[in-house]
Amino acid sequence: MRVRKIPQRTCVGCGQVREKRQLLRIVRTPAGELAVDPTGKRSGRGAYICPVPECLELALKHRRLERALATPLGDAVVNLLRETLSGAAHG
Ligand SMILES: [Zn+2]
Repeated sequence: MRVRKIPQRTCVGCGQVREKRQLLRIVRTPAGELAVDPTGKRSGRGAYICPVPECLELALKHRRLERALATPLGDAVVNLLRETLSGAAHG
């Protein structure tokens, strides 16, 4: 039996360690823009979060997302994330 190491990341909301592919990556691109990165392959500084609104709200409340990304979050980005995560929760 082979044991393969599965990449794991910590959710910035609830702090749980999960498989990377179960988390949504948010990336700060080298140009300084924030984007949702469903493929996990964009370059830049990334933060990982469970794809549920609860974890987003937790991360926002404790400012963990902006700390992880080392940049302030604008309203537009927060709205985008809320939309993305509430959509993901239903589908
Ligand atoms: Zn979480």
